[in-house]
Amino acid sequence: MQLATRLIHEHKVSHESRAVTPPLILSTTFERGENGTDYPGGYLYSRYDTPNRHSLELKLASMEAGTEAICFSSGLAASAALFQTLKPGDHLILADDTYFAIRSQLDQLFSAYQISYTLTDLTHPSRVENAIQPNTRMIWAETPSNPLLKISDIEAIANIAKSKNCILVVDNTWATPYSTNPIILGADIVLHSTTKYLGGHCDLLGGVLICKEQNERTTFLRNIQKLGGAVPSAFDCWLLNRSLSTFSARMNLHCNNALELALYLESRAEIEKVFYPGLPSHPQHLIALKQMKNGFGGMMSILVKGGQSNALKLAGNLQLFTHATSLGGVESLIEHRKSVEGPGSATPDHLLRISVGIEAIQDLIDDFNQALKTLSA
Ligand code: PLP
Repeated sequence: MQLATRLIHEHKVSHESRAVTPPLILSTTFERGENGTDYPGGYLYSRYDTPNRHSLELKLASMEAGTEAICFSSGLAASAALFQTLKPGDHLILADDTYFAIRSQLDQLFSAYQISYTLTDLTHPSRVENAIQPNTRMIWAETPSNPLLKISDIEAIANIAKSKNCILVVDNTWATPYSTNPIILGADIVLHSTTKYLGGHCDLLGGVLICKEQNERTTFLRNIQKLGGAVPSAFDCWLLNRSLSTFSARMNLHCNNALELALYLESRAEIEKVFYPGLPSHPQHLIALKQMKNGFGGMMSILVKGGQSNALKLAGNLQLFTHATSLGGVESLIEHRKSVEGPGSATPDHLLRISVGIEAIQDLIDDFNQALKTLSA
């Protein structure tokens, strides 16, 4: 069965009412059996597991071709869990434009545990190989990267990771399994901020780690989930499960809209550059063609001629694109990245990041048309 069908029909929460849509079970505690020692319903306490979380985890593992999915209360809770599997003195390699909060997490929460990292341009696998040190345990890829939409070759990096005894983690939040399946390409673990495309409506916060195989690390991660306690609520699991039913349909629209908008923006004289992997002008377009099967995602960045003031003016004059952070919802968003990333940011100050929603594409193009006119006025 294909993904769209599986996401609607697989791993439902069973219920005696035979409800067609999954029930939401809010109970934090579950009754013991007659003998007082077992739990015939399969659940004990909601930090350990809940029916809604269990069915969600099965679905997420299946989406990413993994053996086990472990849900957390946010994407950053998921990344923190992964970093907790490292030992003092371990080193990791990160893409040089990894989502800035992942770097902040390492700098502010994990440097005290002597976890160090090297930022590397992952679009050149040879640079990854050169950056590996004897204590390197993890390579962290994000493709497309945030906010420069660089594409790294997961298969090539997975081969390097394997040969050097490191694990490869891929943050697949932007590409999503609609387009890219990192585990099939050789990654060991996939991370998602489920707050984004999987949730799809900017109304839930969540994260997940999907593991290729069951091993000691998987068991430890499961323990971090249960004992660290950064678990998603039953309601967020229910909401996310509900969103997954429309995931394929939404992604199809996000990808089609983004490609059309990217082509349009590339044709506009007011725009210096469009970063979108679906454009033939993108430096890693051929790798994107190889690894992104159904589309190139809904995210892009643009450089606006005239510097930061023009970029902010454009963002402010758009009517349908809300100037706000985050991504992956049905509504289009635009954001001046440098100001959210703070003073250490290497992002150009005339860069705007766009999360293309699923509105009618002509309306989105018309909106840019009117807002771009205000730049020359
Ligand atoms: N990974 C990527 C690529 C993201 O864009 C984000 C958030 O923007 C995260 C991880 C962190 O996720 P969360 O905000 O759910 O903690």
